[in-house]
Amino acid sequence: MARYDYDLFVIGAGSGGVRAARLAAELGASVGIAEEYRIGGTCVIRGCVPKKLLVYGSAYSSDFADARGYGWTCEDLRVDWPVLIHNVRREVDRLNGVYTRTLEKCGVARYLTRAALAGPHEITLADRDGTLSAKTILVATGAHPVFPAVKGREHLISSNECFELEQLPGSIVIIGAGYIGMEFASIFNGLGVAVTVLHRGEQILRDFDMDLRDGLAAAMRDRGVDLRMSTEIASIEKEKDGYRVHLDRGGSVLADLVMAATGRAPNSSGFGLEQLGVERGANGRIVVDEFSKSSVDNIYAVGDVTERRHLTPVAIHEATAFAETVFGGRPTPVDHSFIPTAVFSQPEIGTVGLAEETARAILAEIDIYKARFRPLKSMVSGRDEKMLMKLVIDAKSDRVLGCHVLGPDAAEIAQMAAVALKLGVTKAQLDSTMALHPTVAEELVTMRHKWEPPQAVEGSDAAA
Ligand SMILES: Cc1cc2nc3c(=O)[nH]c(=O)nc-3n(C[C@H](O)[C@H](O)[C@H](O)COP(=O)(O)OP(=O)(O)OC[C@H]3O[C@@H](n4cnc5c(N)ncnc54)[C@H](O)[C@@H]3O)c2cc1C
Repeated sequence: MARYDYDLFVIGAGSGGVRAARLAAELGASVGIAEEYRIGGTCVIRGCVPKKLLVYGSAYSSDFADARGYGWTCEDLRVDWPVLIHNVRREVDRLNGVYTRTLEKCGVARYLTRAALAGPHEITLADRDGTLSAKTILVATGAHPVFPAVKGREHLISSNECFELEQLPGSIVIIGAGYIGMEFASIFNGLGVAVTVLHRGEQILRDFDMDLRDGLAAAMRDRGVDLRMSTEIASIEKEKDGYRVHLDRGGSVLADLVMAATGRAPNSSGFGLEQLGVERGANGRIVVDEFSKSSVDNIYAVGDVTERRHLTPVAIHEATAFAETVFGGRPTPVDHSFIPTAVFSQPEIGTVGLAEETARAILAEIDIYKARFRPLKSMVSGRDEKMLMKLVIDAKSDRVLGCHVLGPDAAEIAQMAAVALKLGVTKAQLDSTMALHPTVAEELVTMRHKWEPPQAVEGSDAAA
């Protein structure tokens, strides 16, 4: 008789949990999984996917504006939010079904309830008595939004609630200027909502390359987003006509809604990890080794609940490596280098590798190549927004360490650049690559002049 009910029990059916459960089952393990909300997790239900659909939906306003230069008449334009959000939710429901059926097909037992650990091998479920047992436990519980500790914080919504809005607000204040704040600022702005962003830092998007940060901030301001930096909030008050956000240096902003985009904390407490002595870092994230094993031998963790990069493909990679290691007999560490990242703002950011500032801090000598130019499409549409392409090179080895793009299709470009950077591409190899013309991406293989601080390369015509 089997000693345990399951070879593997996964807590959390998000990006990491579903992938690990499926692969372990395909490798012959008996697997159970618990999910307290909806199968699919943050990415599918209230993160990447519905957000990107809203990005598409909101981008039509600028597409229609651009279309006029191309001869189109675009009059009486307005967005029907109930239609948009209904269609987004329908796609989320479809994906929720796809994920559920995937688990079903692999024979993974699903428990749609909250799980907790009663021992290193024992799981309790909120909707029933007794315990289940498993040889290996995988914690893939993700993270949740955190709100600033100010008076009136109960009036705040997070990105989660944005997907539940039945009506579009006339105005919104977004607190925080990380990637989620910038994406939702662009979404609401594109849909015609008056957006004010309040951020305590000096510039948006901490940790990104400074040219991207400055470039996006300028472009968003030009598109009408009121970005206020170095601004702390003091309190939030409900009034007859909305919510008043009081600023700590005086003054206030009134809006129909106030959204906090002030970071996410791991779901790592309140379900038994503390009692079992699973080590967590200062920020509560589970400490794991290169194989995602925690300080307790049979307990592993992947995704946002751990202290690594918090992105869907990273959670999926970690889960894949975990299943290969534990159930496939192939110890597989996760390589976290050169992870491409996007900010699906308008305009968009796509980036991979080191920011110029980081490279300068760790390398003796670096070369920078930059191009700022108006894409061909804008010449006729009349859009006055500059695209930015930037390469960070290790001067000694000629290796490309960072590639940063701001403008249309930046994320798609960064994904392909990531392959080259991961393979160790040098600047000389980029230079020897034939350009694909006319594209914006061709700029990455046609930049010939090093950027010198006082003489920025302004304008560039790859075809000239
Ligand atoms: C608004 C937003 C936009 C994002 N956009 C992007 C993007 O464009 N690209 C990208 O790569 N990443 C994006 N992310 C990040 C991405 O969603 C996460 O990195 C990814 O979902 C992490 O996967 P995970 O498996 O670690 O956790 P999750 O997907 O969060 O899954 C964890 C699951 O565990 C469940 N759970 C928690 N505790 C318990 C318990 N005790 N019992 C049972 N179930 C439990 C939760 O309900 C949840 O479903 C975005 C995130 C947000 C919030």
